[in-house]
Amino acid sequence: MTNLNGINPREWALFLDLDGTLVDIQTTPGDVFAPPGLTALLGDLVDTFSGAVAIITGRRLSDVDEILSPLCLIGAGVHGIQLRKSRDGEIETLAPQFPRELLQSLQALAKEHPGIVVEPKISAVAMHYRQAPFLRDKLERALRVLVSGYHQQLELCTGRMVFEIMPHAYSKGQALVSLSALEIFRGRHPVMIGDDAPDVSAIDMAHNLGGLGLRVAGEFFPARAAQFKSTLDVRQWLGDIVGNRAAPRLNTA
Ligand SMILES: [Mg+2]
Repeated sequence: MTNLNGINPREWALFLDLDGTLVDIQTTPGDVFAPPGLTALLGDLVDTFSGAVAIITGRRLSDVDEILSPLCLIGAGVHGIQLRKSRDGEIETLAPQFPRELLQSLQALAKEHPGIVVEPKISAVAMHYRQAPFLRDKLERALRVLVSGYHQQLELCTGRMVFEIMPHAYSKGQALVSLSALEIFRGRHPVMIGDDAPDVSAIDMAHNLGGLGLRVAGEFFPARAAQFKSTLDVRQWLGDIVGNRAAPRLNTA
């Protein structure tokens, strides 16, 4: 068990999930917004950490840019399928386009079941059921059948009130490895903060690389297993680092 009193911005790097970590989850992904002060806070963190700050998200990076506008961050989108290696760099997409006929089947499935929201993400698709949680098991069965026809390229993953159909071999953990290798992050200990199942690989990877993986309580991590109670708690902790105050002690076991 380690107690963290604060991190030295000259020796550490931040890898941050967005939804459920920095911003509150809303009914649909399109409803998510940056709370007042978040963009300024992230800008200050970039300065404080000499640029060693990245977003690691399941969203497309273009969505992240809209939410955090006018800020543009280094990041991995769609669970590592997209990478932007510098703040003013191009977004690289590493996996092929999602099969069109499967996307059409998913859209048809959603149309039959009001409350299901389809989020196409270039090489992946998210099926959100937050508005119809009672459909979870039925949706999962239908998705397993549809995805089985593409099992050599795609797999079904779960998250907070969402199923994602993703190409194999991409994960937030792998994204953290790729970003950590960039000059701006090299030699720094990674801190990864996340709230959901896809963050686990990045949280574990941060530990493996000599850093810390921190969890936000919610529908996935119970409060007893989390260092942060809420997105507000995360923002306050990050604000304390920027303000050069001793960040609150965290149980990082
Ligand atoms: Mg999240």
